Amino acid sequence: MKEHARQKDSHRAVTSESWQLPRPFLVAGPCSAESQEQLLHTARPLAQIGVHVFRAGVWKPRTRPDSFQGVGDIGLEWLRIVKEETHMQVATEVANARHVDKALRAGIDVLWIGARTTVNPFSVQEIADALKGVDVPVMVKNPIHPDLQLWIGAIERLKKAGIERIIAVHRGFAFYGENYYRNKPKWIIPLELRQIFPEVPLICDISHISGSPKLLYEVAQHAARLQFDGLMTEVHYRPQQAKSDAYQQITPEEYRKLIERIDWLQAGDEWRIAVDLEEIRNKIDQIDRELIKVLSKRMQLVNEIGLYKKQHRIALYQPKRWAQVFRQAQQWGAKNHLPADFIARLYQLIHQESLRRQQRIMDDEEE
Ligand code: PEP
Ligand code: MN
Repeated sequence: MKEHARQKDSHRAVTSESWQLPRPFLVAGPCSAESQEQLLHTARPLAQIGVHVFRAGVWKPRTRPDSFQGVGDIGLEWLRIVKEETHMQVATEVANARHVDKALRAGIDVLWIGARTTVNPFSVQEIADALKGVDVPVMVKNPIHPDLQLWIGAIERLKKAGIERIIAVHRGFAFYGENYYRNKPKWIIPLELRQIFPEVPLICDISHISGSPKLLYEVAQHAARLQFDGLMTEVHYRPQQAKSDAYQQITPEEYRKLIERIDWLQAGDEWRIAVDLEEIRNKIDQIDRELIKVLSKRMQLVNEIGLYKKQHRIALYQPKRWAQVFRQAQQWGAKNHLPADFIARLYQLIHQESLRRQQRIMDDEEE
């Protein structure tokens, strides 16, 4: 596949020489390529707005077989025309080695791996193998369900194949039943990914999280506050007529207004935030120190109980006592405005540690 190796082109946004994305890095375009006319009518205004990468799916991984499955190979030719006319880079989704081969041959600048593919290590490995020796940026969406390890694994597979320009895309997580979002954001997961790969740019696919135009702004603004590097947004010149994801796409004009409204905290503001927050952060550090001391005192008392249980040959686990501890913690939590599920998780952790300690004390007896 070496023959596909990208030409390096210094004025492009996603270049390999300076792997530093502009911030905000903007990826936008329709869910699916439907016709050349649709792509051009959508792409022209987006290029004016300053979008860096124009997206359009040509092979669509649809959940149900009767949905529109994408236009296929012909869409690659339409994307090439968009690129030629607008000078935006173009991106499409790949789910197997054949897609990779065809997309690279057609001169697609950026590939993306969709949420339904990231879940499958066989598919991700097949794509990674097809990309060996190729210098192309790849956007990796999170898997459909909230499994951080699968997302990490997909990025690792691409890195091992020699792909250096990887962009992580947070598109939210599926769940069963009605909800505010189409895909729940669970922001802690992309933030944990960022801790693991601080060098990998992270953008937010606000369209698949929102599932409706009315949530786009709040999701985008939240991503900006969390220092995401950019956005992926579904834009269609006639959203109502879109063949896929019609209900969540917006017009280029709506996109322009949306992008203008978002307040991006610049990296240079970080020192100011640090200064403004220093006092509060110091107080939090002090409280954390006390919290740890209190926990340690509690665990010493747990040890004493462990010794008593050992001496009197009493069962380690006392369900009635545990129920009481749990109930009163819930009551105290409610009085102090702490959510019940938070207290539940905290006390499960404390109880586990208490049992572990007492188990150790019991085991010592046997030796
Ligand atoms: C898409 O980007 O149109 C798409 C199918 O997204 P996801 O893989 O996030 O569901
Ligand atoms: Mn879509």
